[in-house]
Amino acid sequence: MPTTVKGVIARAEKAPAELVDIVIPDPGPHDVIVDIEATGVCHTDLAYRDGGINDEFPFLLGHESAGRVSVVGEAVTHVEVGDYVVLNWRAVCGECRACRKGVPQYCFATHNASQKMTLTDGTELTPALGIGSFAEKTLVHEGQCTKVSEDAPAEVAGLLGCGVMAGLGAAMNTGQVQRGESVAVIGLGGVGCAAIAGAKLAGATTIIGLDVDEKKLAAASELGATHTLATQGLSPQEVAEKVQELTGGFGADVVIDAVGIPQTYETAFYARDLAGRVVLVGVPRPGVELTLPLLDVFGRGGSLKSSWYGDCLPERDFPYLTDLFLQGRLPLDRFVTGRTDLAGVDTALDSLHEGGTLRTVAVIGR
Ligand SMILES: [Zn+2]
Ligand SMILES: [Zn+2]
Repeated sequence: MPTTVKGVIARAEKAPAELVDIVIPDPGPHDVIVDIEATGVCHTDLAYRDGGINDEFPFLLGHESAGRVSVVGEAVTHVEVGDYVVLNWRAVCGECRACRKGVPQYCFATHNASQKMTLTDGTELTPALGIGSFAEKTLVHEGQCTKVSEDAPAEVAGLLGCGVMAGLGAAMNTGQVQRGESVAVIGLGGVGCAAIAGAKLAGATTIIGLDVDEKKLAAASELGATHTLATQGLSPQEVAEKVQELTGGFGADVVIDAVGIPQTYETAFYARDLAGRVVLVGVPRPGVELTLPLLDVFGRGGSLKSSWYGDCLPERDFPYLTDLFLQGRLPLDRFVTGRTDLAGVDTALDSLHEGGTLRTVAVIGR
């Protein structure tokens, strides 16, 4: 029997998100229904609401979640009713050309639910990142559920479902930060601060946090930055020189751009050591272009990498990162800087423009 629950939708471009009744259909063979306990408020939800992703309105917003499996389709084997899970948007297929080459983090055919959630009038919803979890329940593919320790609170574990994983993985997976290396992170919101924490976990010894907003530097220091720099008014070259001063005159081994605008990318490009790595994890806006001297791209060597979702593999990464949190070795709870409920999601999305918080989490039900 289809179930009607509350969910937050975006009906039209730039219109406020609305809390409405949505219909969860019976699961298809490999689908599961998850009772959502907590969902983080991510910039991607804001981009969906404001028409920055595509125009497949109405969207069911929300995608950074933990909850409990309540119904499973007839062919589900990956999870059982009652399992405590973090939702992911990288349920790898195992069969596409990326999966067959042994790089499933690039899977080109990730799984989503086979059935459609709808409004009560039958209008099909587009779930954000194939999840849609600013809702009391959602419908996903079984592979989108990753079991983690019951001991981690949902508002903390759920953060691994998107932004915090993106930042941790930008350092640990994409950047391949090694013990004793130097790392600089540009942009100290939730993703950038997670990259700082990831650099620390990976054993970096010099970790530099940079942001134009001086107020954001303190959180980076708490999470592992050994140095911080306020960069308001400085050119990319000036910022790069300051990073060089902190790294023996050379630049950082890895520079992570968690903003994604030409100025921060240029800063990252020149703030790294010769043959260093640049990791772009901040999501650029459509239409933005980058200009760099091609001779410098060649002559400085190294690698320029993009990091989608921190190159994570949920089944590998979510359980061990949850365990590190429970052992006191990764302060995931430090990222929760605000709480709201489903009715407060639209206001929380607006407040993302102001910055200053790492993550606001909608606490939904238990
Ligand atoms: Zn695949
Ligand atoms: Zn997200």
